[in-house]
Amino acid sequence: MTSEVLHAKLKENFGFEKFRPNQETIINTILSGQDTLAIMPTGGGKSICFQLPALVLPGITIVISPLIALMKDQVDSLKTNGISACYINSSQSSEEQQFYIDNLKSNTFKLVYIAPESLSYLDVVFNELTVSLIAIDEAHCISSWGHDFRPAYTNLGYLKSRFPSTPVLALTATADKATRTDITKQLKLRNPKTFVASFDRKNLSLEVRPALDRVKQIIDFVEKKPNESGIIYCLSRKTTEELALKLQKSGVTAKAYHAGLDNKIRAKTQDEFINDDCQVVCATIAFGMGIDKSNVRWVIHYNLPKNIEGYYQEIGRAGRDGLPAETVLFESYADVIQLQKFASEGLNSDVQLAKLERMKQYADALSCRRKILLSYFGELVKENCGNCDICKNPPTFFDGTILAQKALSAISRLQESEPLAVIVDFLRGSRNAYIYEKNYQSLKTYGIGADISWYDWNQYLIQLINLGYCEIAFHQHNKILLTPFAKKVLFEGENVKLNTVVKKVIDKNEIKETKTKAAKSSLFEILRKLRYEIAQDEEVPAYVIFSDASLRQMETLRPMSDEEFLAIDGVGNAKLEKYGQEFIDAIVYYENAKKKKAKSKKEGNTYKTTLELFQSGISVKEIAVQRNLGLTTIISHLAKLYVDGNDIDLSQFVSDDEVMLLHKAQIDLEYPTALKPYFDHFDEKLSYDKIRLGLAIVERNK
Ligand code: ADP
Ligand code: ZN
Repeated sequence: MTSEVLHAKLKENFGFEKFRPNQETIINTILSGQDTLAIMPTGGGKSICFQLPALVLPGITIVISPLIALMKDQVDSLKTNGISACYINSSQSSEEQQFYIDNLKSNTFKLVYIAPESLSYLDVVFNELTVSLIAIDEAHCISSWGHDFRPAYTNLGYLKSRFPSTPVLALTATADKATRTDITKQLKLRNPKTFVASFDRKNLSLEVRPALDRVKQIIDFVEKKPNESGIIYCLSRKTTEELALKLQKSGVTAKAYHAGLDNKIRAKTQDEFINDDCQVVCATIAFGMGIDKSNVRWVIHYNLPKNIEGYYQEIGRAGRDGLPAETVLFESYADVIQLQKFASEGLNSDVQLAKLERMKQYADALSCRRKILLSYFGELVKENCGNCDICKNPPTFFDGTILAQKALSAISRLQESEPLAVIVDFLRGSRNAYIYEKNYQSLKTYGIGADISWYDWNQYLIQLINLGYCEIAFHQHNKILLTPFAKKVLFEGENVKLNTVVKKVIDKNEIKETKTKAAKSSLFEILRKLRYEIAQDEEVPAYVIFSDASLRQMETLRPMSDEEFLAIDGVGNAKLEKYGQEFIDAIVYYENAKKKKAKSKKEGNTYKTTLELFQSGISVKEIAVQRNLGLTTIISHLAKLYVDGNDIDLSQFVSDDEVMLLHKAQIDLEYPTALKPYFDHFDEKLSYDKIRLGLAIVERNK
């Protein structure tokens, strides 16, 4: 199919203007009848790769997916785009399942989503179906190498035997080579064409912060983002609950999510998050797998993740719509210690420890973080990314030799028997119970680093650990030991370069500003509310109606006709028809209100100018000439200015008697709004100017 035709289909049915990397070639390969293996990062746009061919091909497309919760979402999404699809899984009653199976035969559906466990239900209708494409989502579930092994996936190979001439598309975000080979083999793919998309997600900013005061840092962070959905990953169930509570106390709708909670509660939290009713979810890793929410605007890691794979998958849940999204990872030594303990006690401890070490290296990095991430996935990039904390704030070094000497000698004075916090207290000369109990205050170098803050000392010591001058004895209460390299600094004058500690200063004013800005109804907020209302009505998640990216574009381009609306990315024919008018109305209304406001502001100014000129003693005629306005206009300005209570004398224009007569006429004529009835009443003997100004005086005297 020509590129033009494919692009037209993409726009008509899904509303998108362009293909994302690899989508078009994958689609072409499938349409040519070839088996395909597509490896794309989360948010890379895998669904289009089978949804678009499904529309073009004559028969039905079977989509195998392990994520039952996601099926409804995907089917809802397709339906809002006017595409007929259904799903069959154990969440439905057997009558319901039977209903859809019966209807498959009548060829009403272009796509059917089915869980591998339920696939056998289809056996009875297979003979009657024209199956044009088989898509296997989350294909890594077939491999026991992978992290989400699903036994039901191992049977899927029979699909290829059953439909030998139907192309199979296997999709996954797992890049690892062993898994890839396993997928091909077990699905019995024939000579599959493999596509590996770049794992780079440029719209995700990357940042690592020291974990000191992290709760406060998180609250400040969230306060700056009212209405923006985010996920906070925590290591323990307890932390998710405590953190959610703290956020609630500072007015954020936050909920905890972990495997220990009742199923119903978990499902409810997930729904609320998906539907934009709950802003923040504090979750263990169990959260996020089964959701497709495209407007997650940020992801925070409260604790260091176990490995880079998990970390990348989790941050990948932010910004699927392609708009900028933020990620922040908090690094704490306590976490490293705990994770090292878990890893060394678990299965495969060598591998797990090595993976953790890579994770730690990433967090400690002093060069572009994205380069490190991508190189982990085998992608080499030349340029620095410009969207990570290191690129934005390159580290600056200083001669830290004396600092290093002070710290290392403190460790030595304390006989290499104390953990980091005590060393810092010792250096700073803290007068706490523990120091006195141990009589450390009487040691020679006690308080030698009192001029440096607690926070900074922590950071310097961590740097010294990273540089290899000292180390943490994880199995001995985390006491800090010196390494042989320490000697070089202490006795041989080796120079140590340290990295300047930059502490994020949170600007309260900035928070206030963002809050007031968000409270003011921007067009985006108005459109967001409209989207939310429609979504509630239709019982689908808000992002299924339009993505944040589409709303942002509407805000910028302000489409006010069907044609302009259709030009928005994400608006296809079905969505134009269904939602176009409502959104266009909202935009038109907003624009008119804005114009009105601008006009009244301008008018406010014109009155003011007249008033100033008049008060400075210039005659009405003169003002009219100067301002290039009609005399009547100036008179009507004066009338309004007078009614509004301004200090002007109108006696030169209209006498007290005339005012009295006008007042009487007003009653006799039963309060006409126009001036002509007065003019006629006085037999054209009282000028319009006099009538206008006289009535102003009557009005103000009331
Ligand atoms: P994945 O399954 O790879 O994580 P999805 O198929 O869910 O990704 O797509 C992620 C998001 O990107 C969805 O919101 C989808 O609508 C959007 N998307 C997919 N393809 C395009 C495209 N060509 N242009 C714009 N948005 C797209
Ligand atoms: Zn970078």
